[in-house]
Amino acid sequence: MRPARALVDLSALRHNYRLARKLGGQRALAVVKADAYGHGAVRCAQALEAVADGFAVACIEEALALRAAGIRAPILLLEGFFDAAELALIDAHDLWCAIQADWQLEVLAQARLQHPLDVWLLLDSGMHRLGFAPEAWQAAAQRLRDMPQVRNVVAMTHFARADELDSRRTEEQLAVFRQAGSALALPASVGNSAAVLGWPGANGDWARPGLMLYGVNPFGAPHPLADQLQAVMTLESAVISVRGIAVGEPVGYGAHFVARRPTRVGIVALGYADGYPQLAPNGTPVAIDGRPGELIGRVSMDMLAIDLTDHPAAGLGSRVELWGAQIPVTGVARHAGRTAYDLLCGVKRVPLVYLDA
Ligand SMILES: *Cc1c(COP(=O)(O)O)cnc(C)c1O
Repeated sequence: MRPARALVDLSALRHNYRLARKLGGQRALAVVKADAYGHGAVRCAQALEAVADGFAVACIEEALALRAAGIRAPILLLEGFFDAAELALIDAHDLWCAIQADWQLEVLAQARLQHPLDVWLLLDSGMHRLGFAPEAWQAAAQRLRDMPQVRNVVAMTHFARADELDSRRTEEQLAVFRQAGSALALPASVGNSAAVLGWPGANGDWARPGLMLYGVNPFGAPHPLADQLQAVMTLESAVISVRGIAVGEPVGYGAHFVARRPTRVGIVALGYADGYPQLAPNGTPVAIDGRPGELIGRVSMDMLAIDLTDHPAAGLGSRVELWGAQIPVTGVARHAGRTAYDLLCGVKRVPLVYLDA
């Protein structure tokens, strides 16, 4: 069997969730959109269900997959519905629903539902992606409170730059949010991972941590709280071929690596079709049997090369970690000009193997 796989540590996931909940205020929705950032939404939600206050996903398809797997906890649709027909399913499956635009408000006002809905009304406090501008938001909030189709209303906003700890933008957005919502006394939800970890003053009643659940530091630098997170995914494979090459000889497509010393090359069964970044350069960190090592040459679809010259004890069958507890995915992302978000969401083909302590 091909040795490439992604181990997913569910006890680390629970540890990270507990940290998010402790730092983020009272309650936290675990964000498991995009198949739990590549970690497998159903298994992650099952592992969290006993400790989590609820979940958040991007669309009804993701929510229904969790319901079909038996998840009974609250599930929030972060962008609400995309068409009126979804409301019947939202109603039937007891989902929570963001309202981010006028047209959704109108559809909801016309809807006939079995039960009143919990809605999360999104204020555009400065990201300018989704949500209502402050005055329109206040009018929408009043209107929702009077609608028979609505049970609870939560005031929600989203930060654009919470990962930039030296930017004033998060405080500016928060001020807009607080001012818009002050008269209405609604429960509030503001914080993504970076806000939970980096902006303790920004907590509302409901945090919405995503990335941090998977053990990833959202800041570009060490951080005392983010450093308490535990990596959840370990992407790993093994050496399937070893050869020595002479000075001046290249490795791989395009000769992106040329040996400057007699070099022992190991070939690892994992490539960009598994979600490893194709353009990761020479020197991108890996761990070889637990010791720090380096990628060499262009990453192939199914394989990549590493330098074994300084790893005399390593050889055929040696275990290679591409990212995980030892090699932070953020470091690989930085080398490759990518982000931890898109690397994790891009993991494919490799089996996800769940560990639960
Ligand atoms: C994805 C998302 C989150 C989670 O963000 P992280 O940066 O992964 O913590 C929170 N809120 C909303 C609205 C989102 O879309």
